[in-house]
Amino acid sequence: MPELPEVEGVVRALQPVVTGKVIRHVQVSNTICTSINEGKACIIKGMDPEMFSDALENMKIKEIKRRSKYIFFYLNKNNIDYVLVNHLGMTGAWFHVHSLNEITESKFQKHIHIVLTFEEDEFLVYADIRRFGEMRLLHSIEEFPPLLEIAPEPFSEEALTHFLAISNMPKYANKPVKEVIMDGHVIAGCGNIYATESLFRMKIHPSRKISRISEKRKTELFRTIVAILQESINVGGSSISDYRNINGEAGGMQNRLQMYGKKACPICHTNTKQMVISGRNSVYCPKCQR
Ligand SMILES: [Zn+2]
Repeated sequence: MPELPEVEGVVRALQPVVTGKVIRHVQVSNTICTSINEGKACIIKGMDPEMFSDALENMKIKEIKRRSKYIFFYLNKNNIDYVLVNHLGMTGAWFHVHSLNEITESKFQKHIHIVLTFEEDEFLVYADIRRFGEMRLLHSIEEFPPLLEIAPEPFSEEALTHFLAISNMPKYANKPVKEVIMDGHVIAGCGNIYATESLFRMKIHPSRKISRISEKRKTELFRTIVAILQESINVGGSSISDYRNINGEAGGMQNRLQMYGKKACPICHTNTKQMVISGRNSVYCPKCQR
């Protein structure tokens, strides 16, 4: 699943190529249309696909930003502002191409769901293999309250203060540290990969209760998470499973991961163990992490 660094990579790649462009035409896949007609939610949320296409046509992309793991496309049509909020889910990917044939990996080619046409030979394509991604066209983010409840950006000044304050709340006291740091209300954008890595680097067992970690260690843990997120952004994110940047390229962070997906600890060579925490598989070293 793309986490904050991967989404940041997508946004940085999109910014120079689509900012200022006007969406001339929108094509939505039959899969989306059929699913929604049958009452099943599929990618486009809160709007029927035809309305979504009509609304987006002739909108100008003013700006693209990342917030946590969301991509915000700030749009304007007839002097009215809109925001298209996109979450990539497990396998969402954007491709900026001059022909759909440029998407050479068949697993993405087979799962093209939204095609935005700028010019006759310029397209922005959304492909999503497992279809857990989401698109919401809003007037402002206030229309979708969960966006307002996300913790501050981890790189912002208030993020550490927020993390310490929220993680001290009684409702978190008995929760495993890994569950707490993966909670978007506590830290924005830290998913399974980066939570696993930061706990390993800090030698903290993923199931340790957050209330049993000192303020000093929590501060160090937070700084470690931020450093790993930044390191991953710098090398283009992790290409675990199906993440691609908009040119179909993989990132380089997966080569730097020390614990996520590992069978043995790189430090003590003990076999790693796994446990499920808040529904996600957690890998850890039973010797190094306490
Ligand atoms: Zn170890």
